[in-house]
Amino acid sequence: MPLYKQHSLKIYNSLSGEKEVFTPIHEGNVGMYVCGPTVYSNVHLGNVRTFMSFDMIFRYFKHLDYKVRYVRNITDVGHMVDDIDEGEDKIAKKARLEQLEPMEIVQRYTVDFHDILDKFNFLPPSIEPTATGHIIEQIEIVKVILEKGLAYESNGSVYFDVVKFNENNHYGKLSGRNIEDMMANSRDLDGQSDKKNPQDFALWKKAEPEHIMRWPSPWSDGFPGWHLECTAMSTKYLGNHFDIHGGGMDLKFPHHECEIAQNEAATGNTPVNYWMHANMLTLNGKKMAKSTGNNILPGEILNGDNEFLSKAFSASVARFFMMQAHYRSILDFSDDAIIAAEKGFNRLMEAMDNLVTIDFAAASSLDIRAWEDSCYEAMNDDFNTPILIANLFEGVRFINLMKDGSATLSETDLKHFSKLMHAFVFEVLGLENEKLLNGNNDKLEGVINMLIDMRNQARVNKDFTLSDQIRDRLIALGIQLKDGKEGTSFSL
Ligand code: AMP
Ligand code: ZN
Repeated sequence: MPLYKQHSLKIYNSLSGEKEVFTPIHEGNVGMYVCGPTVYSNVHLGNVRTFMSFDMIFRYFKHLDYKVRYVRNITDVGHMVDDIDEGEDKIAKKARLEQLEPMEIVQRYTVDFHDILDKFNFLPPSIEPTATGHIIEQIEIVKVILEKGLAYESNGSVYFDVVKFNENNHYGKLSGRNIEDMMANSRDLDGQSDKKNPQDFALWKKAEPEHIMRWPSPWSDGFPGWHLECTAMSTKYLGNHFDIHGGGMDLKFPHHECEIAQNEAATGNTPVNYWMHANMLTLNGKKMAKSTGNNILPGEILNGDNEFLSKAFSASVARFFMMQAHYRSILDFSDDAIIAAEKGFNRLMEAMDNLVTIDFAAASSLDIRAWEDSCYEAMNDDFNTPILIANLFEGVRFINLMKDGSATLSETDLKHFSKLMHAFVFEVLGLENEKLLNGNNDKLEGVINMLIDMRNQARVNKDFTLSDQIRDRLIALGIQLKDGKEGTSFSL
């Protein structure tokens, strides 16, 4: 039976402001779209936090045996400086300043993004579409919204008519903003803009003569609006109605509000069942941001080369630091906080090392079922990783007692306990036991080959208890033995 059938997962839905039981549209399947980075500079640690929150969410869905289609895009055009409709495209601006092709900028920072995610042990999404790869789909949506009378063309650009849309729909339902207040608070258009109202947003922008990123369309040679890209890419791969849409909290308005409006205008239906927003990573109490320079780069964590850091930290320590906070809480980064996280992480890894050396014994003194339930309850309560980690440390305490011989578990319970500890620590939280990774691989290989030889000898001696024990303990460490014609090989 798939695990999800045994669990009732609750997700905080930003649209309703409540935790709701998660019921996917198609049983056993999850469709999730997360807004990806705008690739005009290196991702900072704040960006990494948001993507890591969704990596953990993706991992937990997979752990529950859901089949997940996780789409996370690359924004490589259309995201304007200051998130407004006028002015310059972020990527085009960087290309101009560095005298490079926009696609050279896109390539450079996409490579950096992937490199960082790899170092921080992210699982790749199922599909990673780019905005420039979906211009045709975006033009098609603009046509539909124009046909519905909810957008207008003005001087080669096409704008979404927010006021008209709001007559029969609710613009502001996600962000809780009210259109009357928005109108009252906005400055009058200075006559330079092609918009009817300041709230209107661009679906298609006519490119100025100097603008190098441009595509032909029925309205002008131009480029798509940022919000439209995510609408096109999410619905193309997940359908007009899908389960989850995520992103950082700062994308709720206008980006996600506009996505909802575009979808509702084009299809008459609301696109997403659960909107999820991850909270910000701050530095000195202020949001980490590319534009202000108040940020740490993920690479600087790994080499310690930043004035805020007293030393280097491993990627898993940084991940552990992030996972100790709930994804919807603001998390402030400091040297002291990550040093404390490192201590906790080392304690956890030490216990994981010890776990495999513990011998089986008869009596049980940890209620494994109750402990298991608390771990799942934490995760089922809107992915509460800090509570899960508290439970894992309860596990650590128990491992240490077992190591001292003051507590014991039956063989079956110990196996089950060990499997769960491994699943939560490595699979769901995505931590890595760095001693194995960073250690001398030649030595590690030598030791594993020695164990393989000992296992073979045990088999020759018909000591199958020992040979199975060697295999099982290696599996518990994440080392898989494969018996083949040419002998036994292993994978880490
Ligand atoms: P961008 O490349 O600016 O479009 O941002 C990529 C993602 O990072 C978005 O989901 C943002 O909401 C998120 N983000 C930006 N700044 C922070 C921060 N300081 N903490 C957490 N997430 C952030
Ligand atoms: Zn988006």
